[in-house]
Amino acid sequence: MLYICATPIGNLKDITQRVLETLENADLIAAEDTRNSLHLLTHFGIRTPLTSYHEYNKYDKAETLIRKMKEGMDVALISDAGTPGISDPGEVLVRRCIEEGITVSSLPGPAACITALTMSGLPTGRFSFEAFLPADKKERKRILDEMRDDTRTLIVYEAPHHLEATLKDLLDVLGDRPLAVCRELTKRFESVERMRLSEAVSYYGENEARGEFVLVIGGRDAAELKKEQQQQWENMPVEEHVARYEAEGHDRKEAMKLAALDRGIPKREIYNMLHKGEL
Ligand code: SAM
Repeated sequence: MLYICATPIGNLKDITQRVLETLENADLIAAEDTRNSLHLLTHFGIRTPLTSYHEYNKYDKAETLIRKMKEGMDVALISDAGTPGISDPGEVLVRRCIEEGITVSSLPGPAACITALTMSGLPTGRFSFEAFLPADKKERKRILDEMRDDTRTLIVYEAPHHLEATLKDLLDVLGDRPLAVCRELTKRFESVERMRLSEAVSYYGENEARGEFVLVIGGRDAAELKKEQQQQWENMPVEEHVARYEAEGHDRKEAMKLAALDRGIPKREIYNMLHKGEL
């Protein structure tokens, strides 16, 4: 079977007893970077054979690993840090295992996104993990536009050399939201700076970003969003509003009901607006 094993994101003491036992007892450890993982395994005295499983061999290597598991091997999957599958290779192998009827078990442990969220001071009840924003301009804009009206807390990973540019893009699209800049989590120089996006932009415009970062950003204010959406509808002719819902496949009655809901007015009023001047 496949064991997904979370490993520390900085502090080696964060490894779990169960992960250590599983790594010790597995027939093979699939690691993102075997050299990097060798340090971790040597530290804990684990001598299980290692093989590479990374972004550039994830499809082919998944098949090799599947074959080995079908022959009876237990494989433990680890990444460079944190939880495999979270902005790290793993997803493809897990999906293939499921398709092939191989049992998958996940051994929980550190993940930078959850560690940052819990320290942010921002609402934790509903959140959206956005991983790294895409580098491709068009795709980046599409994702940022989607994030703009999301009322959930947003979590973004970023490398230090892209931090300033990402903060600027976030400020441009989302506006001046509250933010927690979570740096070097679980490490010696761990810090969490709670500020506004505009403050972070000016700070990192003047100071070089160093270390690993997670940005936790406040979601869109729900009441403000509702007001903005209502204003948008009010500026649209009622005929066009109803026609939009009809184009989506709703019958006229349902389309009028939905338009009334959007505008926060009774359905009768929509009817009157549509039929005024017909006498
Ligand atoms: N699999 C990992 C996890 O479970 O969080 C994420 C791996 S991803 C390739 C690396 C990114 O995670 C970094 O660029 C940074 O944004 C974030 N990260 C990882 N370790 C971190 C730490 N100790 N402090 C802050 N951010 C960290």
